[in-house]
Amino acid sequence: MENQAKRFARVVIPSPLKQPLIYAVPPDLQDEILVGMRALIPLGRRKVVGIVFELLPETHLIETKQILAVLDEQPILDAALIQLSLWIAQYYLATIGEVLATILPPSLRSESQRTVVAKSGTFSISDAVANKILHMLGHKKGRISIKTLMRQISGGNVYQALERLESLGAVEIHERLPGGRKRSKGIRLDTDVAPPAALARYTLSTEQERALHAIDDRLQKGGFETFLLHGVTGSGKTEVYLRAMERVRASGRRSLILIPEISLTPQLIDRLKARFTGRVGILHSRLTEAERWAQWWHILRGNVDVVVGARSAVFAPLPGLGLIVVDEEHDSSYKQEESLRYNGRDVAVVRGKFLACPVILGSATPAVESYENCLQGRYRLLEITKRVYERPLPRIETVDLRSEFNRSTSIPNSKSPELRTDASPSRTKAAYRLISHRLAEALCDNYRKSRQSLIFLNRRGFSNFLQCTLCGYVLRCQYCSVTLTLHLAQKSVCCHHCNFRRPVNRVCPGCGNTTLSGIGVGTEQIEETLRHLVPHARIARMDRDTTSRRGSHEILIRQWEKAEIDILVGTQMITKGHDVTGVTVVGALLADLSLNLPDFRAAERTFQLLSQVAGRSGRGDDPGTVIVQTYEPEHYAIQHLINHDYKGFFQSEMEFRRALNYPPFTRLVSLRMEGPKGDEVETKAKILAATLNEKLDMKPKFRGQIELLGPAPAPIHKLRNRYRWQLLLKGKQIAPLLELAKRAGQLVPRSRNLRLHIDVDPYDML
Ligand code: ADP
Ligand code: ZN
Repeated sequence: MENQAKRFARVVIPSPLKQPLIYAVPPDLQDEILVGMRALIPLGRRKVVGIVFELLPETHLIETKQILAVLDEQPILDAALIQLSLWIAQYYLATIGEVLATILPPSLRSESQRTVVAKSGTFSISDAVANKILHMLGHKKGRISIKTLMRQISGGNVYQALERLESLGAVEIHERLPGGRKRSKGIRLDTDVAPPAALARYTLSTEQERALHAIDDRLQKGGFETFLLHGVTGSGKTEVYLRAMERVRASGRRSLILIPEISLTPQLIDRLKARFTGRVGILHSRLTEAERWAQWWHILRGNVDVVVGARSAVFAPLPGLGLIVVDEEHDSSYKQEESLRYNGRDVAVVRGKFLACPVILGSATPAVESYENCLQGRYRLLEITKRVYERPLPRIETVDLRSEFNRSTSIPNSKSPELRTDASPSRTKAAYRLISHRLAEALCDNYRKSRQSLIFLNRRGFSNFLQCTLCGYVLRCQYCSVTLTLHLAQKSVCCHHCNFRRPVNRVCPGCGNTTLSGIGVGTEQIEETLRHLVPHARIARMDRDTTSRRGSHEILIRQWEKAEIDILVGTQMITKGHDVTGVTVVGALLADLSLNLPDFRAAERTFQLLSQVAGRSGRGDDPGTVIVQTYEPEHYAIQHLINHDYKGFFQSEMEFRRALNYPPFTRLVSLRMEGPKGDEVETKAKILAATLNEKLDMKPKFRGQIELLGPAPAPIHKLRNRYRWQLLLKGKQIAPLLELAKRAGQLVPRSRNLRLHIDVDPYDML
């Protein structure tokens, strides 16, 4: 590009509240500056880092400030990522600064990471600032951060001086890893030797072969295409991804694989490391800032062939990206539920489109939207209907909890910990009732045969909530409109939404009697009950309480894999990904928990969750059994589950969605207003609704296009001390919805007392 065309730059600061700004590019920087590089710019009295988004020959602005320095030798965001950022900002109605704040690791955004290091030798230089820098370096053992330099030298261009010193060979500028010592940990994952099992190379089944062939064909031809790989649990989908990724590598390109939660899938990491030894990049939210930073540069420099990561890894700066895989594409964890509310799966598809490379979405229970996309011809469906070695799918049976309810239960005596001195028989009974005769028998039998069992209850803690048996007082979170859950081991109650915790005893805050008692059951209580039921079994629990420490997931999963645990109890964490061949019994204790949520996806989620947990069973040579306990065995989600009938479920679910006019028949944008004062939020939500309704009536482009629902208090009316009201925009086309939502955003300026969260394609309806 002619330097004339680079006289100005549009620079974006990675922060939600900043709009792009135009700066002049000084002539000496015009040679090196490129779109996608970081630039240091003056902003008020500060100096901040921004990304060059566009270079311009001219500007209508009369006065512009100058860029102080260019911080990179090569762009850190390539053209496709820039294009993707712009698309995200437009589609999710976010500022581009907000998008960049999500894409870039935090430490890339500040200047504190660069250090000046003195080289040996004597240098004569006339520049006063340069001399001052050399002088300071002399006092600081030859090493000083740019941040310190900037603070101590006022007047004169530090960057120009540094550049001169650098070109003389007097100094070097280093990108410093923050917390450098921790760095080895992040990279450790990469050099580990994978267990031999991960190395196994199979002859692909016919169905696997056919799927791979279709993908390979697209890879050879080039261009964008989205595949939906629908394969039952244990059908070898991962093997298909790995082979496709190997082909991509053979052609000198790189691939990206997204998974819902990285700490739950150490086996996949093993397999990746075995196939791409030393060339695997890992990105996920549990990395420290330093690790994330190190991984990011590693990836950017092309040092890895594959990147694996959770949602935000969709932004991994892989050069020469040739394939994107999204495993368990239906998983709701791909949707970010705060700040930038994007869906990582959908962004993956758009990134593939911009890069003109194929995208594979894989699942045993595809999202209704994704499957419909196949039927509409937007995605290509690839199916694997059989498990590997034609192993049978597990037999799924239901236990009707309504009839269990009437059964007289014999309750063995147990030592009651102090908080349970009330030993309310009804509560203990509740736990026993949640393990039906049928399931108890199956568990004992399985234990005798030295096989493993998995017990799933989507509710952690000991009791669901505490209630006074005298006055009916219920212990609630003081910040959220939900009940507090009893966690007996910690002798405390905890809010599962905001994590508020407090110690608890039996004294009722309502009437002062010692009559508080737990209602409902959680995983902790089930674990205890199982210890009585199957006395010598090695029982472990996996939920957010037992895995809060870094690495604790992995330890549990490894023990489970090595059959050091007989019965594993847990929340939906245990349903994901792992492939353990010794598991033959799976019990789902209360399937209805997710069925009864006020959310139009409740049936779909339940079907997905239960299929996934059922799929953990019978992955080895012994066939599996799954026992699903429910109050609603006749529900279509449960009926199709029993028959392993995804297509049947899809049909029923589509009828339901059509009747209520929900996605995929319509698109949704949710507007959630929240603030610390309930009345005010309510009033403002009503005013907003009235204004939007007026626009709907008046503007022909909106009329008949958009249905506006609400305002209504959100099902969780108060969260973290903020009251919440919501409005839902529904329509056939997304464009008018986005336009109206954007106006709504302009009508409600962000303030301390009121925030409007716009959620495009929302998942969280609570
Ligand atoms: P999915 O991702 O569909 O649940 P995986 O790819 O994890 O299934 O495969 C399940 C198990 O079967 C894994 O242990 C895998 O190593 C093994 N496997 C995959 N493909 C084959 C094959 N063609 N022959 C034998 N075993 C296979
Ligand atoms: Zn709370």
